Amino acid sequence: MINEPETLTGVILSGAHGIYDVHTDEGILRCTLRGKLKKAFAQAQSTKLTGKASLYKDKTYSARRQRQEEATATLPPRLTVGDYVKLRRLEDGAGLIEEILPRQSELLRKDANADAKRPTAQTMLANLDQVVIVLATAEPEPHFGILDRYLAICESARLRPLICINKVDLPHDPRVEEEAALYSRPGYTVLWTSIHTGEGIDHLRSLLKDHTSLFSGPSGVGKSSLVNVIEPGMAIKTGLVSEATGKGRHTTTGSQLYPLSEGGWLADSAGIRALATWNIPPEELAKCFVEFRPYLGECFFSDCLHVDEEGCAIHQAVDDGFINGRRYQSYIRMVTEEER
Ligand code: GDP
Ligand code: ZN
Repeated sequence: MINEPETLTGVILSGAHGIYDVHTDEGILRCTLRGKLKKAFAQAQSTKLTGKASLYKDKTYSARRQRQEEATATLPPRLTVGDYVKLRRLEDGAGLIEEILPRQSELLRKDANADAKRPTAQTMLANLDQVVIVLATAEPEPHFGILDRYLAICESARLRPLICINKVDLPHDPRVEEEAALYSRPGYTVLWTSIHTGEGIDHLRSLLKDHTSLFSGPSGVGKSSLVNVIEPGMAIKTGLVSEATGKGRHTTTGSQLYPLSEGGWLADSAGIRALATWNIPPEELAKCFVEFRPYLGECFFSDCLHVDEEGCAIHQAVDDGFINGRRYQSYIRMVTEEER
């Protein structure tokens, strides 16, 4: 009897230029691409490049974005870390990637080498689905403006944000709880954790299971400590420790994923940097502030950016106390810098 070659499903953990490490139920396999796929990628790449030149004729962000989406929707994507693939296990233990499964999400990174007037973006992480935004109750004092920025980016990139307020064991200003309530009200998950008392750690661990997650947040809030409590040794691997000491461990700009022993994956600090550069077009920013949504479309001007326009429904909602003034200030800060 001839054995059928074994077909497995896996996730690309790392790799580029045709050689990839893929995490499967049977361990990590080093894989290459099947010839047919290689050809399809080469073709896609050349179409994409010519397609890109025309992107910049579009006057508005949304026209440009739509064209970009149309261009990418019809093309097979370049294989990226985070992609789910089907592969065949070869006799020598290596694997051959035969199929790429559809992507749920893409985290883009601005191309640092591109012409500043014509920025291009590259997908650096596929299928990322959640971002753990870490703050501390104290040491350092929480900066909710940073949280607002990360939340808006998550909304724009369609990633689920988990708000993690660490160091609950430290004495802190009671206003931290008041501020945090502002975020649980519209439905965000807010976790309170401490690596010293263990509070919230099991809950956080359960929320990471079977997801592809990224830890983000200011330095010193406890990201690497949390990651190490959840999975010992993981902080160094994901580059979180070197971030704290300011020594860049990563020389490459590509991202990598690391499997969690209970299931799921964590992305490394290259993913964090990509997230920080995410660009939200000004006309889309208001949608990324969830509590603004009921008022959108109610302004006098249909292209209102809700800054100082006459007859602005968002502005009115702030004056009437339905939208928190500090959240609105975060919006203003972001929309004015995006406009430059
Ligand atoms: P990162 O820069 O966000 O990765 O932060 P680190 O994990 O390096 O933590 C910064 C400091 O905060 C370290 O001295 C940790 O020991 C401390 N720390 C982390 N988590 C907690 C916590 O839950 N409670 C307290 N009191 N300190 C913590
Ligand atoms: Zn308005």
